Amino acid sequence: MTEKFVSERNVLFMLHEVFDVGGLTAYEYYQDHTPKLFDRVIAEAIKLARGILWPIFAEMDREPPVLENGRVRVHKSVRKILKEFGRGGWIASTVPIADGGDQLPHMVADACQYIFAAANYSASAYPGLCAGAAHLIEAFGSRELADRYVPRMRDGQWQGTMALTEPEAGSSLADLTTTAIPTEDGHYLIRGQKIFISAGDHDGAENVVHLMLAKIAGAPAGVRGISLFVVPKRRPESNGSLTDNDVVTSGVYHKLGYRGCPIVQLSIGDHGDCRGWLVGQPHNGLRYMFQMMNEARIGVGLGATSMATAAYYAALDYARTRRQGRKVDQKDPARPPVPIIEHADVKRMLLFQRAVIDGSLALLMQCSRYVDLAKVTAGAEKEKYSLLLDLLTPVAKTYPSEMGIQAISQGLQCFGGSGYCDDYPLEQYYRDARIHPIHEGTTAIHGMDLLGRKVTMAGGKSFALFLDEIDAAVEAARVHAALVSPADKLAAAVEQLKSVTSHLLKVAQRGGTEAFLADATLYLELFGIVAVAWQWLLQGIAIERALAGGAKKADQDFYAGKRFALRYFYAYELPKTAGLVQRLTDDDRLTIEAESRLFND
Ligand SMILES: Cc1cc2nc3c(=O)[nH]c(=O)nc-3n(C[C@H](O)[C@H](O)[C@H](O)COP(=O)(O)OP(=O)(O)OC[C@H]3O[C@@H](n4cnc5c(N)ncnc54)[C@H](O)[C@@H]3O)c2cc1C
Repeated sequence: MTEKFVSERNVLFMLHEVFDVGGLTAYEYYQDHTPKLFDRVIAEAIKLARGILWPIFAEMDREPPVLENGRVRVHKSVRKILKEFGRGGWIASTVPIADGGDQLPHMVADACQYIFAAANYSASAYPGLCAGAAHLIEAFGSRELADRYVPRMRDGQWQGTMALTEPEAGSSLADLTTTAIPTEDGHYLIRGQKIFISAGDHDGAENVVHLMLAKIAGAPAGVRGISLFVVPKRRPESNGSLTDNDVVTSGVYHKLGYRGCPIVQLSIGDHGDCRGWLVGQPHNGLRYMFQMMNEARIGVGLGATSMATAAYYAALDYARTRRQGRKVDQKDPARPPVPIIEHADVKRMLLFQRAVIDGSLALLMQCSRYVDLAKVTAGAEKEKYSLLLDLLTPVAKTYPSEMGIQAISQGLQCFGGSGYCDDYPLEQYYRDARIHPIHEGTTAIHGMDLLGRKVTMAGGKSFALFLDEIDAAVEAARVHAALVSPADKLAAAVEQLKSVTSHLLKVAQRGGTEAFLADATLYLELFGIVAVAWQWLLQGIAIERALAGGAKKADQDFYAGKRFALRYFYAYELPKTAGLVQRLTDDDRLTIEAESRLFND
């Protein structure tokens, strides 16, 4: 079986040739870095992933977490992984050097996360959650809170979590019931229940620090009454010792996939002694949490792309070695069977995977680039990158999540019956990947966010900026003969997206919100295909430039393969927009009119 789970060449192509990560070093904030250093970081990430994450990918699935004597026991390597990630600075890689980090661009850090998750998604989740939670405390918490918690989370001793979901509050966080009662000692007494909390308790860390949403007694109803608290499992005392903080792990869930990382149920404050510390101002919790959620959403998109990438290399290896049948025009039984990669339909499945994976990865790198540029620019330019990032976050989360499952399914299909059995890793990728359209907001919630909020936000400015970005890519692509046709196709698809959007905004005015948002998921799907077509065009420009500049012989097949994946996307995937456009401009209120009693028999 192949040992390849990621392509270093492809990662470097994205970073340098498509997104010019080296260009960031012109900004003062990144001036001490060099493109060569970025390459070394990527090489180190692959080494680390191959060394400690990849070897236990299947084992972590087969030895899932168990709840024993009130504590969750996880794979014995989790402790070592957290330590290595802390010691190597991977948890703090984007943190400013002055605060103990490496000040790396997000493009590089996210490429590393993609590599780690391709090697072993479950294992990569532990340090990833530490990074997000620590960043949240640092961004909005007091100096005292940051000093107490952040260093230990960044060195991998204490696990960070995001604790939002409750039994009656999943998609609808407005309905949270966990309460926080202020005390005269500065802390709050927290009481409630949280469910599905990733890495919410385990024996691979000395402590667990929950970034928890709760409502202060007497707070306004709905999302405007939500506050954010640091709620440790064990609270640090002034003498350095740790005291149990009345956070009890009442259950660990048995999941379909992603089994190496526990999700737990927490009973908080059953004995009236759970202390939480407010982060920032009261009632602003959801706004703060959005920082971690948006980072996590990009992380989910990356994770989905990672799994689909690893599944692709496994399928590719199998397709090259498995011999079956003969070419349709060479049926002579005396001839040996051909490797299945010679069959057009197998090539179609592999090209589909490449089209999804590289399109998704480019979209995610694009988002990371906006994060980097928003950090180093000011005024209108900063606003532009922030608006683009905001608009594209639901798309960058959802397209890879939904399409990653389909890509893995096609990878599994390449294996035939073997793909369905656990002798090969495809069945695990298939199970693991199913989480992505669910966590960090379901696809439906992101569809409504995109259409109901993002597209019209700032008076439609984000959407207009997005259209400008595509126009610029179309213009740049038309210079290259090989890209004229895809550029024209993308320009036509954008016109359709614009007219669908204005049609739906009119529906909102005359048909009300329910009719407007009823097919928001399909709108998100349409938007995703157009956004990924744009990303393929950007890759196309990089490919044509490299070929025109006389690419090295060793790179010729790489670029030629990319060209085929681009052609595939435009020939097979972009046309799918036609059906979506037809449905989205049809005013039939089918799903609204179908009453729930009609679903019975
Ligand atoms: C493996 C895993 C890890 C997780 N990790 C964490 C974590 O670390 N921290 C945390 O806080 N949570 C976590 N979660 C919880 C996760 O974020 C929620 O499961 C998710 O937000 C959906 O909430 P729910 O399960 O209550 O589903 P529901 O909200 O009940 O949704 C059920 C279905 O109804 C649809 N639906 C709901 N409301 C609407 C609406 N208004 N319009 C249209 N459709 C709607 C949804 O799209 C979905 O299809 C995790 C979950 C899992 C499974």
